[in-house]
Amino acid sequence: MNKLFELTNKVIVITGGGGILCGTLARALGDEGAKIAVWDINEKAAVSIANEIKSNKATSVGVKCDVLDKESLKTAKERTVAELGQIDILINGAGGNKKEATTSEDLSFFDLPADAVRCVLELNFMGTFLTTQIVAEDIAKRGEGVILNISSISSFRPLTKVMGYSAAKAAVNNFTQWLAVHICQNYSKDIRVNAIAPGFFLTEQNRFLLTDEKTGELTARGKAIIDHTPMARFGKPEELIGTVMWLLSDAAKFVTGIVVPVDGGFSSFGGV
Ligand code: NAD
Repeated sequence: MNKLFELTNKVIVITGGGGILCGTLARALGDEGAKIAVWDINEKAAVSIANEIKSNKATSVGVKCDVLDKESLKTAKERTVAELGQIDILINGAGGNKKEATTSEDLSFFDLPADAVRCVLELNFMGTFLTTQIVAEDIAKRGEGVILNISSISSFRPLTKVMGYSAAKAAVNNFTQWLAVHICQNYSKDIRVNAIAPGFFLTEQNRFLLTDEKTGELTARGKAIIDHTPMARFGKPEELIGTVMWLLSDAAKFVTGIVVPVDGGFSSFGGV
């Protein structure tokens, strides 16, 4: 059983690895004996997570990287290969929403600034596409590896307020399916491309929507989410680990092109 989920010595790049969800995944995968390259535009956050992994006797490097900048991605790849070896697995985790791209009582759909919406579309979709172009080229040449995209339940049915974010994550799902087929048909049957769609996890990207900034109490939206989640709570970042280990390891050897919700049942509940 353990052998099925084995990730020892696999070189894993995780973008957005300095953040809450991907930082948790980076630490957990380090504990499994994988070599972790933590890529993040926030160098301090990337290095801090890498140091935590190293202090647990695993191998890691924290690298400053902007997933929207090809030169930055190339430099990050060179450094990762030099320090950890050839990349086996890519997790596209850099992403998120912006308050400026979110409708509210103060900001109508008609006033949404194009720049803010463009920024959210670019980070979530173009950031995934560009990173995959740079990293997966090596994986395709070697003919073996795994790509895992971090989508969101807002990709299946759009959530209110976050129009650009929902559209961007829907594009990530579509890209996941497209690439899974393209890679099998043109490069190797041993490269898998999947995604996870987390439900609601309280992190910096959504805290302003789900809790009151002053009191910390749930907002009306936060309450509505809990009411529509059969498990009646937000997820804990560590609850993503099992699904991710399954998709990255040989346990999912015949699984490609799927998007797995990890959402306490939110996407299955019709509301009645
Ligand atoms: P987070 O803000 O804690 O982490 C995101 C990380 O991405 C940050 O460390 C940030 O510095 C980094 N980043 C931002 N722009 C970047 C760029 N251009 N290049 C490289 N790194 C960049 O957010 P999180 O909640 O941990 O989200 C991680 C992923 O999970 C995102 O893709 C997010 O959309 C997705 N997600 C989150 C939730 C949730 O409830 N928190 C739900 C569904 C999906």
